[in-house]
Amino acid sequence: MKTVYMDNNATTKVAQEVIEEMLPYLGDLYGNPSSMHNFGGQIGKKIHQARQRVASLLGCSPDEIIFTSCGTESDNTAIRGVLATAADRRKIITTRVEHPAVLSTCRQLEHHGCSIIELSVDKKGRLNLDELKESIDDETAVVTIMYANNETGVIFPINEITSIVKSKGIIFHTDAVQAVGKIPLNMNESDIDLLSLSGHKLHAPKGVAVLYVRKGTRIAPFMLGGHQESGKRGGTENVPGIIALGKACELAQKHIEEESSQVKTLRDKLEKAILASCPDSIVNGDKNNRLPNTLNVSFEYIEGEAILLMLDKFGICASSGSACTSGSLEPSHVLRAMGVPFTAAHGSIRFSLSRYNTAEEVDFVAQKLPDIVKKLRRLSPFVNTKK
Ligand code: PLP
Repeated sequence: MKTVYMDNNATTKVAQEVIEEMLPYLGDLYGNPSSMHNFGGQIGKKIHQARQRVASLLGCSPDEIIFTSCGTESDNTAIRGVLATAADRRKIITTRVEHPAVLSTCRQLEHHGCSIIELSVDKKGRLNLDELKESIDDETAVVTIMYANNETGVIFPINEITSIVKSKGIIFHTDAVQAVGKIPLNMNESDIDLLSLSGHKLHAPKGVAVLYVRKGTRIAPFMLGGHQESGKRGGTENVPGIIALGKACELAQKHIEEESSQVKTLRDKLEKAILASCPDSIVNGDKNNRLPNTLNVSFEYIEGEAILLMLDKFGICASSGSACTSGSLEPSHVLRAMGVPFTAAHGSIRFSLSRYNTAEEVDFVAQKLPDIVKKLRRLSPFVNTKK
């Protein structure tokens, strides 16, 4: 059975060009870049090239790039690293719709004496910027607000947010794990201080990520150890992963415009077909400010997990709520924060596409879905209650 993979916000296929770039470093070129000998030392040049490629995609300087192991580590480093240098400031401002990599970190810090403000969103998943302005005070150490939401794809107005935060002299971190590679970003034209990205969301392998740190930003290392990453992140480098991420960034930079418009066309086609063929289906999130690849739909009165299982029988991969929490039947915290009613939040499915999807795949999903929804609605106690 062919796999129709529409779960690219969970993880992506590693690009063939990326595999080819990294393979020698899983084979004969296994040296440690910190070694004195040439066999190891030569690896340092490839890491430097990867750093330049990431910096070029982000529009920043290579020495502002710190390689880490995952987006979660980058988020932890940003938040904990700033707090460690700002002993007199104990307040963190974030949003209710962040990924657990940010929310769980903040909530743990709350137990250790920090005060956390979680900004609310409206029913389209949009932030109230006045609430942000009012929340910032002399106690604030860092504001951490995601670039784009992993569940709905909603893109926050990061430039406006950054200027509000920077006008008050506060450090601003953004979790851009879902944005990088899907929409163009440029640190040269922005005042963002810290930004997280993760390799496996942009066709590089799992286990490699980046924290961008603007020159002059006061931040303490989170991973203490050797002097790797100029003393900013200890631990022997994931050499093949870093080289792979560099290549993935190079590809993203070259093709981002054409790919995002191609992916958006497919996403819009899928959305149109679903809304036309499945009654009581609603798109979640601000349709005017969304990642081009993401479609979050609620099918009222049925369970998202039941839909997923039936899609899975046809080889179709999607996700209900956040991929990272789909082991639990709790409705997504993002949809709850948006005030999506219980019967709709439970029946939400996220389709997230990539450059590897085709129009035929979209047609296949659009053809299978209406029957699945009909079948499940026949069994749903909520539909019967409604009638
Ligand atoms: N932040 C966001 C918005 C994400 O979507 C994810 C993963 O889904 C992460 C952080 C965590 O990234 P990683 O899986 O690399 O730890």
